[in-house]
Amino acid sequence: MTNPIAVGDQVRIAMEDDNIHGIIKEICDRENYVIRQSPRKKHFLHILAANIDQAILIVTIKEPKLKQGFIDRFLLMTEPYDIPVHIFFNKGDIYSDDDLAVYAYLKEIYDKIGYNCYIISAIEEKGFQQLNKLLLGKVTLFSGQSGVGKSTIINKIAPTLDLKTKILSNYTGKGQHTTTFAEMFKLEDGARIIDSPGIKTLSFNHLEVQDIAHNFKEFFLASVGCKFQDCMHRNEPHCAVKAKIETAEISELRYQNYLQLIEEVEDQNYWERNTQY
Ligand code: GDP
Ligand code: ZN
Repeated sequence: MTNPIAVGDQVRIAMEDDNIHGIIKEICDRENYVIRQSPRKKHFLHILAANIDQAILIVTIKEPKLKQGFIDRFLLMTEPYDIPVHIFFNKGDIYSDDDLAVYAYLKEIYDKIGYNCYIISAIEEKGFQQLNKLLLGKVTLFSGQSGVGKSTIINKIAPTLDLKTKILSNYTGKGQHTTTFAEMFKLEDGARIIDSPGIKTLSFNHLEVQDIAHNFKEFFLASVGCKFQDCMHRNEPHCAVKAKIETAEISELRYQNYLQLIEEVEDQNYWERNTQY
């Protein structure tokens, strides 16, 4: 673990004689947490946040272009604790009809599984009513790839925070890193938001193939109908997940992302286990 204590942790402190300083004696049990492979140290894990009520994932269709599979990778971090996720597509002001069609396509997929999608524009201040309503009385983790406008959105919600935003580079369409660690802010109405560093990539060195299968929510629900208890929904006979893909009850896009992820985890684990360091 690169950080034994995370944003959102509840701790017990022993105060020193001056009654100003204190020492953390204990981290209380976590109700939940969001964990990822450390972006810098492959073999370490990093806790993004603990004890959260929900996560808001900010994405864009373009500028920067939505990375194929990114949403599903993110959901792998929140699903182990059933943390509710709302997906906000920012920069709605620059979407063409084609972009809007992509949005509609993704919204249909994710709404159906239980991750509600919304369109928002931080620049035009559209879509904030829904966002503000979701935050009331909750602890919310804000996350997203770098450059999607997360800081701009948080600044609109809480202008007094004045988070640094940055100009997008013309070449890559990606912003520079500004947030380097997660931080919790209390809003005037009592809502708490956690801003976390912009994500570049998400890898899952620490997961097993079964973890992926268990955390694709609708696959897991359908898997009670699979013939084999440990069905990975690939080529096994009488697979209920594949049957639902045939009838389009389960999205083909999710399935392709799932296959890609299990392949990645399998390759990784194979090399880890067969390589002498
Ligand atoms: P972060 O890395 O997610 O925190 O992104 P920033 O908030 O720093 O924003 C990155 C760039 O996107 C900046 O140039 C913002 O002005 C721009 N941006 C943010 N929100 C919007 C939006 O709703 N529409 C458009 N067109 N640009 C936006
Ligand atoms: Zn199956």
